[in-house]
Amino acid sequence: MALTVKPIAILDDNYAWFLRDEATGMTAVADAAEAAPVIAFVEKEGGRLDWLLITHHHGDHVAGIPEVQARFGAKVAGAAADAHRLPKLDVALKPGDSFALGDSTAQILDSPGHTLGAIAWHFPDGPAVLSGDTMFAAGCGRLLEGTPADMHGALQALGALPGETLVCCGHEYTLSNIKFALSVEPDNAALQAFAAKAKALREAGQPTVPTTIADEHAFNPFLRAKDVAELAARRAAKDNFR
Ligand code: ZN
Ligand code: FE
Repeated sequence: MALTVKPIAILDDNYAWFLRDEATGMTAVADAAEAAPVIAFVEKEGGRLDWLLITHHHGDHVAGIPEVQARFGAKVAGAAADAHRLPKLDVALKPGDSFALGDSTAQILDSPGHTLGAIAWHFPDGPAVLSGDTMFAAGCGRLLEGTPADMHGALQALGALPGETLVCCGHEYTLSNIKFALSVEPDNAALQAFAAKAKALREAGQPTVPTTIADEHAFNPFLRAKDVAELAARRAAKDNFR
């Protein structure tokens, strides 16, 4: 594994992600929305930061970038389509582009639904994918800008990645997602097992992420939706689920 990924807990329930290409020592942080914990984490990892990566424009994914950039002099990379509403980009990427973090190269995937212009970063060398607020552990993002068809397409694209790919998502929403998922598939044994594991991890103060793409195929009710209509119905039900 040439790429190491580690979650950084920030804000109330967000994750930034620390990435290091082990061959070159180059590092990146994705979605650095809160500067202080990201700066502390990078210092602990050796004090080198080459890149700040962005999945989408929301404040809880970008707000800390100027301060982190000022501290380490890192460059910023994000979606060209959202350049007008992102921090100033040094590299603007389109779906289908690649991005090199040292010897680890990411493929940029279009990832609409939660927002239009969102991108996912697939690093086959992790293997890992930065899924932003598109795919969560056992869940998906709210449809704030895109349609159910957008989200369905984005989830299926993530689902087509190799099963061992680590899903590095933007939030610790797992327990709430599991509660909803169990209402959809109460008899899903993989989901029941993940529910027990996630509960224990949270009680121990640990992240429940990353999961893998194979995990998500086993228990994510939005990835498992058989078509756009079923995804739409499940997303609407989740929006009103308590
Ligand atoms: Zn968001
Ligand atoms: Fe978010």
